[in-house]
Amino acid sequence: MNGDDIEALRANLAAATARANAAFGERLPLSDRTDFEAASRGRIAQLPDGGVAAPGGRTAWDIADYDFLQGDCPPTVNPSLWRMAQLNAISGLFQISDSVWQCRACDYANMTVIRGETGWILVDPLMTRQTSAAALAMVNETLGERPVSAIMITHTHPDHFGGLKGVTGEDEAHHPPIYAPADFMIYAASEGIFGGNQMARRAIYQFGLTLPRGPHGVVDGGIGKSPAKGERTFVPPTHFVSETGEERIIDGVRFVFQMASGTEAPAEFIFHLPDHRILCMAEVCTQTMHNALPPRGAEVRDTLLWARTIDEAITLFADKSDILINCHNWPVWGREELTRYLHEQRDIYKYTHDQALRLANHGGTPHEIAEQIEEPDWLSQRFHARGYYGSLPFNARAVYQHYFGWYDGNPANLDPLAPEGHAQRFVDAVGGIGAAIVLGRNALEADDLQWAATVLSHAVFADPDNKLARCLLAESFRHLGYRQESGIMRNVYLMGAKELDEGVQPVPMVGGRNGDLAATLSLRDWLDAYALRLNPAKARDADLVINLDCDGEQAMVCVARQTEFARMGVGSDRADAGLCISKAQLEALASGTLTPDAVIEAGAKLTGDKAAIQTWLGLHDSFDLWFNIATP
Ligand SMILES: [Zn+2]
Repeated sequence: MNGDDIEALRANLAAATARANAAFGERLPLSDRTDFEAASRGRIAQLPDGGVAAPGGRTAWDIADYDFLQGDCPPTVNPSLWRMAQLNAISGLFQISDSVWQCRACDYANMTVIRGETGWILVDPLMTRQTSAAALAMVNETLGERPVSAIMITHTHPDHFGGLKGVTGEDEAHHPPIYAPADFMIYAASEGIFGGNQMARRAIYQFGLTLPRGPHGVVDGGIGKSPAKGERTFVPPTHFVSETGEERIIDGVRFVFQMASGTEAPAEFIFHLPDHRILCMAEVCTQTMHNALPPRGAEVRDTLLWARTIDEAITLFADKSDILINCHNWPVWGREELTRYLHEQRDIYKYTHDQALRLANHGGTPHEIAEQIEEPDWLSQRFHARGYYGSLPFNARAVYQHYFGWYDGNPANLDPLAPEGHAQRFVDAVGGIGAAIVLGRNALEADDLQWAATVLSHAVFADPDNKLARCLLAESFRHLGYRQESGIMRNVYLMGAKELDEGVQPVPMVGGRNGDLAATLSLRDWLDAYALRLNPAKARDADLVINLDCDGEQAMVCVARQTEFARMGVGSDRADAGLCISKAQLEALASGTLTPDAVIEAGAKLTGDKAAIQTWLGLHDSFDLWFNIATP
């Protein structure tokens, strides 16, 4: 294939994508402006021009990055996603009622502001210190300066609490009360800790973190634009809500809670303001179909419990509400409209759950179910349940995973080959790398994009330096991406295309790790997360016992049989060494930023053999964030 051939192929693909996107738009009521009115209603202020600054001369957030969305939908974006991207870019401070406001599109999630007797009650203070502080400043400048009298965190995901230190004030000992769902502390730090590196790398794909914004890059993240690039902080909650029906008066405002743990997040609550007739569904409901399983990877979510929880909210609160707000996207206005909305939100999760299982019980496997599950008829008319974040095929596979796991029951798939071995045999079987590329190119010419991606991915995994194979695989990813209705699925494909074209280009990930939050991990979780770094080849002859006394908590760490296990609350009298150490020092030792001598000098106390500590530390791997995904 010469350069002209590739240009001709690209032109054909561009035309096919433009046709596919236009056809997609034709079956949706895209001229309906109701959501634009709902999303713009009550806007009274905006963040200052120039965006929100972050340390080091960086910008944490600037909605002007999305000014390109003001134009007509380009052929490289699915028109349904373009519409959603425009809606999610409507940014500023919005009045919901005489006592409730929302800061929206000032970060990935919303910060809701409720007027208490003495100050502001803030719900979900955004993802970074800089964005939450800027949002609060906008509130104070517009509505009059008041103190923050209470803070609520609806659930355990970091886009809802990373900005805590931007609103708690400087005096860390005397911050306002912070309310969170029961078990918040069990899950907030630990949910992503064991698979943290894998999840962080895949989150770069999900949010398109190294892609440009624009018609050929990131346009939207489904439940918002994208995570802000500021400093992530944490302050532990002081009050926990554990029961549905629990009523609390917080700074003079009556709250009635419903527990939603195990649906969208492992610990989550929703709440009703009976005196204001406002219902906040947290992230259980949004203006899109959510993820039963995010592409970044997570424990799979329970779609049946999700539907039951929304139904419980209907029975408890729908009749007593005139406005429904969420912690992402815009409100639903009016009792009738919010009641209908809640039924439809409930039913999209119930439908996905039931249809995936109906098809599975007919013998369907994950990919068959994903191919067979059809949109319910009403979905083309109801934008709020469409897949701008999750997608129906991806969620149907997730339901299968929830009930059956990754194995599809076919003995051929009980222990499949790993991608490189599989790819080499595939390429050999079709007659070599040249023949595999022709097969992929023919698929691209026939606009059979998924088959092209499958064939060409085999070619790249068999011969990763083959420039033509990489180039054609990138084209297949790019055009799959351009046609996605889901903003994050688009990001995943476009990240794959970028890394095939340019190779993996590490960039410093600002605000990636939340040190405040990591410091709240229990010692057991910390030690288990450290143990999964044990390299069994290095540990072949190891037989070690280390006693730890970490901030007053005891643990006995044993390395034997190439396995590391920590028993809590005890020490061994045959330990090779013991350390009395703080969690921060332990973290510094494990990350290699401090040596054993340096932590002893800094106050840690050693007993026994120092060399045993050195040996123990040396048995562990460290992880590289920038591992390959689209190539072997
Ligand atoms: Zn969120």
